[in-house]
Amino acid sequence: MALIVQKYGGTSVGSVERIQAVAQRVYKTVKAGNSLVVVVSAMGKTTDGLVKLAKEISPNPNRREMDMLLSTGEQVTIALLSMALQELGQPAISMTGAQVGIVTEAEHSRARILHIETTRLTRHINEGKVVVVAGFQGTSSTGEMEITTLGRGGSDTSAVAIAAALRANFCEIYTDVPGILTTDPRLVAEAQLMDAISCDEMLELASLGAKVLHPRAVEIARNYGVPLVVRSSWTDQPGTWVTSAKPQGRSLLNLEIARPVDNVEFDTDQAKVALLRVPDKPGVAARLFGEISRQKVDVDLIIQSIHEGNSNDIAFTVTTPILKRAEAVTAAIAPALRSQSNPKLDEAEVMVEHNIAKVSIAGAGMIGRPGVAAKMFATLAAADVNIQMISTSEVKVSCVVDAAECDRAVAALRTAFEIEAGSRAELLTPNSSPLTPNSSLLTPNSSPLTPHSPLPTPPVRGVALDLNQARLAIRQLPDRPGMAAKLFGLLAQHNISVDMIIQSQRCRVIDGVPRRDIAFTVSRIDGESAKEMLTQVAAELGWGEVVLDSAIAKVSIVGAGMLGQPGVAAKMFEALAQQQINIQMIATSEIKISCVVPQEQGVKALQAIHTAFGLAGSEKFVVPA
Ligand code: ADP
Ligand code: ASP
Ligand code: MG
Repeated sequence: MALIVQKYGGTSVGSVERIQAVAQRVYKTVKAGNSLVVVVSAMGKTTDGLVKLAKEISPNPNRREMDMLLSTGEQVTIALLSMALQELGQPAISMTGAQVGIVTEAEHSRARILHIETTRLTRHINEGKVVVVAGFQGTSSTGEMEITTLGRGGSDTSAVAIAAALRANFCEIYTDVPGILTTDPRLVAEAQLMDAISCDEMLELASLGAKVLHPRAVEIARNYGVPLVVRSSWTDQPGTWVTSAKPQGRSLLNLEIARPVDNVEFDTDQAKVALLRVPDKPGVAARLFGEISRQKVDVDLIIQSIHEGNSNDIAFTVTTPILKRAEAVTAAIAPALRSQSNPKLDEAEVMVEHNIAKVSIAGAGMIGRPGVAAKMFATLAAADVNIQMISTSEVKVSCVVDAAECDRAVAALRTAFEIEAGSRAELLTPNSSPLTPNSSLLTPNSSPLTPHSPLPTPPVRGVALDLNQARLAIRQLPDRPGMAAKLFGLLAQHNISVDMIIQSQRCRVIDGVPRRDIAFTVSRIDGESAKEMLTQVAAELGWGEVVLDSAIAKVSIVGAGMLGQPGVAAKMFEALAQQQINIQMIATSEIKISCVVPQEQGVKALQAIHTAFGLAGSEKFVVPA
């Protein structure tokens, strides 16, 4: 009836009993008339154990040898599961990534899939066998054939890529939770299960720390329209569908690297309000955005840069028709936000900029590819466009620029990313966002697992916590076109992915040059090397100090429904203020708001925000050990 790809994660195949239970489920699915490819992870915590062994021998093991080592974990599981199936009388064959022909870049420990040979897979399927494939691994195509791995958690990506290559009816990800929940049930036991979530929302959640799905798996599902469901391997519950709109036909060649950007968008109906020099203490953002939402002002991007002395700058954008109201509310509240204790700070000032535009590149192919944003910044620099604000999400990078430069910026970006003029570039208004969820849900129509008709979407679907980030800041970068391009180009050359990027609003003239600070977050493992590299460059280029803070946590809310709904940001900031948690940085995109807070308060922040949005259910989740 159907061709299904199933993937079982580490806990689901953590023991002989679990492998036998998986074999039973596979057997039942075949008996119901389906053909099956099964992708498996290493048993239990095997991969962690192998990493630990390597670290005992070398503090910085060679990446090729690491791939050689880690890929063995999955090889154990495929053989055992095949045997278990054969014991049940079900013909089965195990295959490594190389045997299947999962061809990847020659990039050890983080290879992207280029293409998947389907000949041998299809032959075995047609012979009535279940093909059991080792997840997380592939083989490089260039030079001598090498074993590569896709990055931790990468078996999800193997499974969805195989489903795309085989044009399978759907892909099921079996794990130790009943599906995708509003947050990690290990941190909040009252997290609630969702029936369905859009690929865009899931991409954000996965990238912001929800490890239930590998973000690249969601990216492939979105790009190729693979119907995807996350379910528990312990029960028969229907799980959570990850829905996508029907994609345009895409070649299966260069599967994970083709066309990272498929749209250029712009919005000229924007204005910016900035509040400079507000005290750096809990509750300030909550008061400001609380008042703004009471006045029904809908804000778009919000940015709070790193503090300078004891004060912060907060900036936000609104659509032009409501600028006057936004400015009035901000001016009215500004005096109340000034620090009482420090008269020097009594200079908080409201700054308004009318003629700005937002230009964005959009597409689900930017994850872990720092070169894409760098190329956008370089393109704008070459067109002599100065970037005033940057906002990044997994599916979009937006830059606020002078309105007079918008046409030039859009034309340059269309050329650089090969987007045909007039074809798909679109004017983005809050109500015409391409991110609206539930538009033509893509789920298998033949399957009994089809989700219920979509319910009205709440503004916030999920909350995520990332404790593996570090913050870097560069002080006093000259404020002229090309600076972001230079900085993020350098990071891209070193393969360092950047997440939140924030330029300060405050501009200071030093040695006759206007300068601003710029701050961004990176993976904690990249923090030290990025700092070292940038410190060297800073000295050569006359930039200021490079500052690294590794003790941060990033807590984020995600939901396509927050678009055009005033008050969502205010509620998040208020929840943090009530816990006396100081917000160090704020960055938003259309469907997410992220705050950097002190690391030791990360879990408390997550719990408070989850409760504030009413996401907690009455049942408690117990995750199997
Ligand atoms: P597997 O080994 O099956 O791939 P993972 O450990 O990679 O499983 O992912 C499942 C885990 O993801 C869950 O046990 C849960 O702790 C965690 N998780 C984090 N955020 C979420 C979320 N929003 N919904 C469900 N699980 C989540
Ligand atoms: N075994 C690998 C890991 O633990 C891949 C995976 O399970 O997805 O990261
Ligand atoms: Mg996983």
